[in-house]
Amino acid sequence: MTFDDFQFDYDLMDGLDAMGFNKPTPIQELAIPVILAHKDLIACAQTGTGKTAAYVLPIIDKIISSNHSHLNTLILAPTRELAVQIDQQVQGFSYYVPVSSIAIYGGGDGAIWDQQKKALKAGADIIIATPGRLISQLASGDIKLDKLEHFILDEADRMLDMGFYDDILKIISYLPKNRQTILFSATMPPKIRTLASKILDKPEEISIAISKPAEGILQQAYLTYDAQKIPLLSEIFKANSYQSVIIFAGTKERVKSLQFELKRIGLKAKSFHSDLEQKEREDLMNEFRSRKLQVLIGTDILSRGIDVDGIDLVVNFDVPPDPEDYVHRIGRTARAESKGTAITFINEKDQRRFHAIEALIEKEVPKLSLPIFLGGAPVYAPNTRRSEPKQRFKPRRK
Ligand code: ADP
Ligand code: MG
Repeated sequence: MTFDDFQFDYDLMDGLDAMGFNKPTPIQELAIPVILAHKDLIACAQTGTGKTAAYVLPIIDKIISSNHSHLNTLILAPTRELAVQIDQQVQGFSYYVPVSSIAIYGGGDGAIWDQQKKALKAGADIIIATPGRLISQLASGDIKLDKLEHFILDEADRMLDMGFYDDILKIISYLPKNRQTILFSATMPPKIRTLASKILDKPEEISIAISKPAEGILQQAYLTYDAQKIPLLSEIFKANSYQSVIIFAGTKERVKSLQFELKRIGLKAKSFHSDLEQKEREDLMNEFRSRKLQVLIGTDILSRGIDVDGIDLVVNFDVPPDPEDYVHRIGRTARAESKGTAITFINEKDQRRFHAIEALIEKEVPKLSLPIFLGGAPVYAPNTRRSEPKQRFKPRRK
């Protein structure tokens, strides 16, 4: 599945491209169609699985074709930091479309209060708010939420942990009954169910469980420029005596060229890809299983399901685009209690992807220094934006 399948507005797709999003995550695949179909939704998926875009994208798409004359969408988030982060994603995705947003959170001076009030009165398309400040703004009157179409509770579990239950109900008392309500949560304790039954109307339910990498896997990463990858691989093989190695690359063309390059540095490697006949694949797997072949190179079709014991090293020559594929790939080593190493090469372009992986596995993977003779490495700065939104509150295009 690709983002094209949702038939989003053309300009919204440009925003997606600019943000470096190529393929929807599992929660996005499941949640986006439900939200586009105007149904209430309760969705549960672990941290780092892309929940923000799962609701922000369909909402922006719907707003593009609306008349923009009123506050359209309210997103509630537990903390100021999260509200700001969500607002940044909204601004990033809507960079090329006439959709306005504002984050409403506590603190700041009177000028900020006035700016928030002004945006609320003018009717920004999307408000991202923390409960306390929103209630103060609502209590001071003059803000019309009666035409609101979407109400989203992000990190609902955390919101309840922080004692916002009554605030949430209070805010809902200002909202129209015929809105669409969407609840996202990383966990689904009973109190979330209670809240959901109170505020959602015949909701669809989505829940995604994901396996974590096994404890026995030693995960490491190198920040590299592309030209440093082959010499680095050569060094890694010189410094250790690995017997059974899988190297993953992004495409089958890349897999084939890698086989050639590895041969030049003296490694006996063969490639596994979709162009091989079934018989050729089986022979190759047998050769690898019986340790006659030291290195197998493949795309992600190798990452799901193949069952070979005793692989001692997995190399991600490129960072997989889908964070779950990382878990599948490195799961090829350290099976059944054994130990194994997983090394990932991260070029500058892949830093964002790797950051999403670290969010998914809820762990920072140690970044090792390159051997000195390979020269300097890129700095890890995955959050650097490629294009900055110009203004916080964009004037509406009439
Ligand atoms: P969650 O809310 O589930 O914890 P986020 O929405 O914050 O996760 O997303 C985690 C990271 O993954 C962010 O850096 C986000 O930009 C990135 N991300 C989300 N979806 C995609 C995608 N489809 N492609 C690439 N990166 C993505
Ligand atoms: Mg989130």
